[in-house]
Amino acid sequence: MGTVGAALNDSRSAALFARASAVIPGGVNSPVRAMRAIGRAPLFIERAAGAEIVDVDGNRYTDYVCSWGALIAGHAEPSVVEAVRTAASLGTSYGAPTAGEVELAEEVSRRMPAAEMLRMTSSGTEAAMAAVRIARAHTGRDIVIKFAGAYHGHSDGLLAQAGSGLATQGLPASPGIPAATAATTIVVPWNDRDALVTATERGDIAAIIAEPLPANMGLIPPADGFLELLRERADGARALLIFDEVISGFRVGRAGAGERAGVRADLLVLGKILGGGLPAAAVAGPRHLLELLAPSGAVYQAGTLSGNPLAVAAGRATLALLDEGAYGRLERTTERLGAGLLKEAGGRPVSVVWRPGLLTVFFATEAPRDLGEVQQADLGAYGAWCRELLARGVYAPPSQFEAWFPSLAHDDDHVDRTLAAAAGAFAALEPGGNGS
Ligand SMILES: *Cc1c(COP(=O)(O)O)cnc(C)c1O
Repeated sequence: MGTVGAALNDSRSAALFARASAVIPGGVNSPVRAMRAIGRAPLFIERAAGAEIVDVDGNRYTDYVCSWGALIAGHAEPSVVEAVRTAASLGTSYGAPTAGEVELAEEVSRRMPAAEMLRMTSSGTEAAMAAVRIARAHTGRDIVIKFAGAYHGHSDGLLAQAGSGLATQGLPASPGIPAATAATTIVVPWNDRDALVTATERGDIAAIIAEPLPANMGLIPPADGFLELLRERADGARALLIFDEVISGFRVGRAGAGERAGVRADLLVLGKILGGGLPAAAVAGPRHLLELLAPSGAVYQAGTLSGNPLAVAAGRATLALLDEGAYGRLERTTERLGAGLLKEAGGRPVSVVWRPGLLTVFFATEAPRDLGEVQQADLGAYGAWCRELLARGVYAPPSQFEAWFPSLAHDDDHVDRTLAAAAGAFAALEPGGNGS
């Protein structure tokens, strides 16, 4: 088995994709799902449990996307499903406050010292927008510094890309974004100390926003001292430091990547795990900043389904599973997977970067330090390898620019099967290799 472009019966997915493409742009409700980056059409999923998903053709995969990191406990985790079922039976949304929201906020606050208060939203995009708005209101300034390759949702200002020259105003990263809005963002290469210093020399900066453990260009940890430099430069510029922990929050440990590194941000953006697989996110921080939000303050922010009882129930049930033992298991699983993938890659020009709970397999000899270096990776080989993995029952993120998310439901068997599939997929990439 397993020739190049190994056979995967996906006829039902293909038929659904044809129908979807007539009524949904590109056939998907979020672009990366389309699998274009790995040169194939999307697989339509029918069901999932634990570490495994099953597509509409009945193919079964060990899943490392896990809803892009939202499912740290795996799919359909029984206590999470039960919590959602119970909540749903009591009504799905009231547009009025509930006890569950208070308990979730208290639990987040216990885990994250920087999260004295939090305001919930339905998506990370909205939470990041709210964080920037708070920072602008607090400082009375407009400029936000972000890093190339970081993702903070799809709001206009945060979808900026670097202009020519360092530390200049950003350009729209998408048609439809006003140049004037993109120009309020300065885009700096990740891990570039000099560029950050230059960018923070101006006097009109409201905030520096960063993923303290960037995972939206593949996993590219901060260089030694870089998070500390962010803190120092934000303080020096009298700007706020915003850590977007939508992925890293509750994943790399009980709190997030900032606390793990010993660097505390002024504002946190949370999401994904916070909603346990349902739509929930939040902006968090100290009282004096969060109380700028209406109705305690004048900064407007709202949401019909914010703090939705089902999402809150799923989030609370998920956090309840995340004790020290769980983090120890997840770290061990990630370590076995990361070290195993590196070993299976053999002498190929592949590097594997991991931190507890997430990893990226880069088709590059050295681990990239910024977006530019990821763009130099062999994207074609990554795509071919991913297609081979799918044919061998492993659902890896269908893009070099994303991370793998092992969950608490991934056991040693899943990892062993994944490593065997990876070995076959690597072999299939060789000229004439059949990977059997
Ligand atoms: C996913 C993500 C977001 C956006 O969250 P949505 O819920 O998709 O809007 C923001 N920041 C980071 C770091 C993310 O990974």
